[in-house]
Amino acid sequence: MSFDEIYLKANIRAVHNWPKEGVTFRDITPLLQQPKPFRMVIDALTQRYINHDIDRIAAIDSRGFLIGSVLAYNLNKPLILVRKKDKLPPPVISESYDLEYGAATVEIQEGSCNAGDKVLIVDDIIATGGTMMAASTLLKSQGAEVFEAAALIDLPDLNGSTLLQNIGIGVYSLCAFE
Ligand code: AMP
Repeated sequence: MSFDEIYLKANIRAVHNWPKEGVTFRDITPLLQQPKPFRMVIDALTQRYINHDIDRIAAIDSRGFLIGSVLAYNLNKPLILVRKKDKLPPPVISESYDLEYGAATVEIQEGSCNAGDKVLIVDDIIATGGTMMAASTLLKSQGAEVFEAAALIDLPDLNGSTLLQNIGIGVYSLCAFE
């Protein structure tokens, strides 16, 4: 593990058995409350993508907005909001996916990207990969291409990053909790 990864992980709080029994919630608020680790996250992602041919950044509701919007500003790219159901005004397109218990739906506004656009998707965490997958389906339905799925944290035990890679979506994360 690099020093940077150790430092970032030290600023992410584990909340056991929340929001339900058996889940360890990875709380990024300690990281956000300090400029140094937050800047490390944004700087690392900016360095990774600055010289790439990316047309848009798609940020996922809601903690993905915190990282994705600053990255879009730094890279000077248009920002697409991938929101939870019923938050965006119409016209929208929706994609539902299964959660461990129940289902969730994410939406983007129609016309938020163009056919052929290369879009980088950004979220705080990749767990099962369902949210990234749904975002990718929405973008692809508009003819866009997913450049990569980027997250601050990967939870590899939940297999999301492997699943995404298996369907041809590259994954990049700054740290992982096994
Ligand atoms: P998934 O669709 O299973 O990959 O879950 C990703 C989304 O759920 C992200 O937007 C995360 O913010 C949230 N999430 C999933 N698991 C956790 C966790 N253990 N701690 C904090 N957030 C999580």
